[in-house]
Amino acid sequence: MSDTIFGKIISGEIPSEFIYEDEYCVVINDINPQAPVHVLIIPRQGISRLADAEDADQALLGHLMLVAGKVARQLGVEEAFRLIINNGAEAGQTVFHLHLHLIAGRKFAEGQMAG
Ligand code: 5GP
Repeated sequence: MSDTIFGKIISGEIPSEFIYEDEYCVVINDINPQAPVHVLIIPRQGISRLADAEDADQALLGHLMLVAGKVARQLGVEEAFRLIINNGAEAGQTVFHLHLHLIAGRKFAEGQMAG
């Protein structure tokens, strides 16, 4: 667990609705959505940044991708969604507990990675 807002959400210290949860991760709606669907897939284990993940985290990282697909189906957006991981403050990371953004429900600019 990390000493971040996400660590507190996972521990229940800060109440939050989990739209999906399992042994390894939770999924919540982003408080400041950038699209009609904007959820965060957060491992219970508090890895601070993707760059700090280790070989031992391989199964967990794969699991997060599978959950992304599952949650996309659950939300009915499996035909068009984007996954984003911000790594480091200069890349826009503000919460230092690894998480995947799943964004959908708006038209994405072609050939553009962000936005
Ligand atoms: P980052 O910028 O680190 O990639 O993403 C952090 C995300 O967490 C942001 O999109 C921000 O809106 C979201 N966020 C920050 N604090 C909270 C919170 O307390 N609850 C929820 N649901 N989302 C949060």
